[in-house]
Amino acid sequence: MPTTPELCPPTVRCIRCGRKLTSRKSIADGFGRECGRKVRASLVAVEQNYSRMQIVKALDLIAARRIERDHAATVGLFYVVCGSNASKYYATPRGCTCKAAEHGRRCYHLAAVEMLSGAML
Ligand SMILES: [Zn+2]
Ligand SMILES: [Zn+2]
Repeated sequence: MPTTPELCPPTVRCIRCGRKLTSRKSIADGFGRECGRKVRASLVAVEQNYSRMQIVKALDLIAARRIERDHAATVGLFYVVCGSNASKYYATPRGCTCKAAEHGRRCYHLAAVEMLSGAML
């Protein structure tokens, strides 16, 4: 068995709500049916605020399961993003801890958070 970092396993849980996924299709999507619908619905609004490239990267992030809701967080919504060089960022609807966001830019991590959290805000 390969060991994976605790927060970035190939998940069988819904990326959005953390519920356990059972159907093969849901597992492939990373969302339960209802959550998948909500994420797709929020995409329309998120697309207005980010560039095409950022949207593509945010969707990649979600598809690769490199973003996950942090259920240990007790206040607000926190998402853990696994960066390419094994770095981890913490993103919330208000901000992100990555370099780009530090420099005042809207990073694509935030786009992903907005997609995932859309209907919960
Ligand atoms: Zn869900
Ligand atoms: Zn970021």
